[in-house]
Amino acid sequence: MTVYIGTAGIPISTKRNSTIDGIKRIKELNLQCLEVEFVRGVAMGNETAKLIGKTAADLGIKLSAHAPYYINLNSDDKTKLEASKKRILDSMERAHHMGAEVIAVHASYYGKDTPEKTYSDTRNACADILEKAEKRGFGDVKLGLETMGKQSQFGSLEELIKLSKEIKIIPYIDWAHIFVRQNGVIDYSEILGQLVRLKIKKVHSHFENVKKNNAGEFVDVHIPIDHSPPFEPLAKEIMKRKIDITLISESPLLEKDAIKMKNVLENLGYKF
Ligand SMILES: [Zn+2]
Repeated sequence: MTVYIGTAGIPISTKRNSTIDGIKRIKELNLQCLEVEFVRGVAMGNETAKLIGKTAADLGIKLSAHAPYYINLNSDDKTKLEASKKRILDSMERAHHMGAEVIAVHASYYGKDTPEKTYSDTRNACADILEKAEKRGFGDVKLGLETMGKQSQFGSLEELIKLSKEIKIIPYIDWAHIFVRQNGVIDYSEILGQLVRLKIKKVHSHFENVKKNNAGEFVDVHIPIDHSPPFEPLAKEIMKRKIDITLISESPLLEKDAIKMKNVLENLGYKF
């Protein structure tokens, strides 16, 4: 088993605000991976992506990427749908040149549609994206659809597992999102069991904690890792099942909480 821990975006303590400096900082912090954030748009070119990939490869740091937030594969508006597909394809192309294994995507919103229609529209759009990625030579990058926390967003674990059996996407696990969606309950063992049965070689995931609103319900607002959902039971389950996994800290404290997760695993006997 191998565990890779890193941050969503360049670590806060990076001196210069660049991805290359962020990768070097990950190395200095003795972390293993970095998720490159295209969340506000794919502004990077392929040549820069290659340079970033070379730095990461030289330092032995694994990369992944996060596609822009402004995506809805269930949009009725053809222009918006095509723009969403393009943002995903651009992310995959840069990921390919960076040598990144996977991209995380917030795929779609139900809007006025039923979950079934949203599912089939999302599946059709993803199938088209996968075909184009293959033709254009960057089909090696895995298309990861993220488990989403808000009820308005497509992406329950069940939906993504079903979809991954039909087309070549993988569920990109956001542990806290699943926890919010299930009203503050999560069974790590059961989820890892389902992923193992899908024969996923490596689990890609985000971890953070989430806030409670005034009504006492958990909401998709990321906070530092010190309470809910708890990390230690997940760490124990990863060790017990010998899972290959990437854990990206999406805590507002980024590397501080990535190191916290690393320490928990080390205390359980894992050697990085
Ligand atoms: Zn995300």
